[in-house]
Amino acid sequence: MLRILGTTFAALLGLAFGSFLNVCLSRWPANESIVAPHSHCRTCHRTLLWWENIPLFSWLALRGRCRTCRALIGLRYTLVEVSVSTLWVLCAWRALSVFPEQTVTISYTPAFLLSGLGTAIFLWMLIALAVLDAENLWLPDFLTIPGIILGLLFRTGAKILGNPYYKLPPLGVILLNLEYIAAAAALILLIRGIYWLIRRQEGIGLGDAKLMAMLAAWLGLPGTILAFFLGVVLGALVAVAIIVAPNAKRTASMKLPFGTFLCIGGIVSALWGQSILASYLAWAGF
Ligand SMILES: [Zn+2]
Repeated sequence: MLRILGTTFAALLGLAFGSFLNVCLSRWPANESIVAPHSHCRTCHRTLLWWENIPLFSWLALRGRCRTCRALIGLRYTLVEVSVSTLWVLCAWRALSVFPEQTVTISYTPAFLLSGLGTAIFLWMLIALAVLDAENLWLPDFLTIPGIILGLLFRTGAKILGNPYYKLPPLGVILLNLEYIAAAAALILLIRGIYWLIRRQEGIGLGDAKLMAMLAAWLGLPGTILAFFLGVVLGALVAVAIIVAPNAKRTASMKLPFGTFLCIGGIVSALWGQSILASYLAWAGF
């Protein structure tokens, strides 16, 4: 019962935080405040009525258009709201699994809840970065740097709470995680350096290196390598699709948002990474 109630709450909270994220995603690139003025149509600048701010419902009621100027409300708004809500439902359902069946010993409960909360924050930030890179080719430091620090704190906390007999002291856990973060960032810097030597131009930005460091802070090294692999495969598929597409224009000069693919890889890795890695190891015969 608690699990169902908690998950429903997470779904509604996810819609609200997705809606808030949409405001941020429209205003951060334009360097506008996210608190004032009130939400308005970005075409006719009319301030929205209270019910026009209700996530998902308002979009359906308005059939995706502004009430006065009929400008299309981007599909991104609904997509972001539904994504945050869906991912938070998954987080809550898993984190609250400790309650009904008691499959996990009670001493693990705080660690479970903490990592559930952490994952929800992490996924919210990944959606933010994915959209910002897709729309503006921009992975702002004010998201990735706090992302690294938060990841370090949550991961260390969950590790220590999760296993009271954990051999490493807290400082040891932090140091180990810092090594992972450095290794992940170094991988991107290495690729960036090689690309520079061959092509004499920027292939991957420094923002991608910080994003990789953030992934490592939350996912650890194997999870980050999985996210990177998924991101590269997805990026390659999209690149091929663009080249093959009949109305391909200015493909040569087009820059693909690698950060977006990396974020999607990170989301998959955060939710299903352990089972993917486990089945891969079983398949490879380890
Ligand atoms: Zn309008």
